[in-house]
Amino acid sequence: MKKEVYLTFDIEIVTAKFSKNSNYLSALFIAPLLIAKLLKDRNLKATFFVSLSPKMHEYSFDFYEYYLDLLFTSLKGFENIKIAPHIHGRNLPMDFSTKEDRFDKYNDEQQIALLNWAKQYFKKYGIETNTFRSGGYFHSENYYKNLTEANFSKSSLLFRQNIPNIDLVNKEVNISNPYTVNSITEYPVTSVKIKSIKRKIEIINLSPEFLTLESVKPYLEKLPYINMVFHSFSLQTPKLIRENHSNLIWENLKYILFERTLNIILNSLNIYPIYKNTILKKELVKYLNYFKENNDIFETKFFEEKN
Ligand SMILES: [Zn+2]
Repeated sequence: MKKEVYLTFDIEIVTAKFSKNSNYLSALFIAPLLIAKLLKDRNLKATFFVSLSPKMHEYSFDFYEYYLDLLFTSLKGFENIKIAPHIHGRNLPMDFSTKEDRFDKYNDEQQIALLNWAKQYFKKYGIETNTFRSGGYFHSENYYKNLTEANFSKSSLLFRQNIPNIDLVNKEVNISNPYTVNSITEYPVTSVKIKSIKRKIEIINLSPEFLTLESVKPYLEKLPYINMVFHSFSLQTPKLIRENHSNLIWENLKYILFERTLNIILNSLNIYPIYKNTILKKELVKYLNYFKENNDIFETKFFEEKN
């Protein structure tokens, strides 16, 4: 049997302190379309978890919706892409306060309302969706119950407290497969234990944003189920890079001293640059080429293909 591969992309802007970048045109429209094309050219399927929130206090949902509409309409041409909601709560048009970004900070009733609203939002574009990922993978005690209540049937989160699937510290592989909770099938993101750039032992998600293909390849070949994550904002905006990319210190110095400053100056002039060939884009392409070249071993899937 072929290994099941779920390629998942979180479509959103980056709000982390040093990498903050409000380039919506790139992160929410151009990058997802380029990713869809990179995948299509390699005959690979993927799920885009689209943030329905602008994530920044200063941008309204109405402003953000302009880009959402562009994206939803344009992606219809890609049969290799399925889209699903990704909820960061901030500035969503609800009848309760939505200052909070984290989904788990809303009470059960509010979570169900957010999920129902997301489902309706997708319906406007003729998209029936039953798969969900919360922003930052944050979830509260009744998460699965609330998903069931809102008629979702699939979820895909990262569980940092569980045994890691790829243990780069002890050089081990631990297999975990999708499982069911409260009638929801959970497709866990492949987790990786690493001695991080902060010199701490950390659990992170399998991603070209953190890990070179070379460093994880021997482990991928041992896993029957793989769920990889990549963020749209990493494709063509400069940002801090982490974990085991080569020339990490030099690249980050270049970012902090030069690119970040340049970006702040340009943004003040209303110019939002697009970087053509970021390190993270090059790494993503390596992963995609690898899955394509080894399509006798790996099969990319949509969550909807399984019951
Ligand atoms: Zn997110």
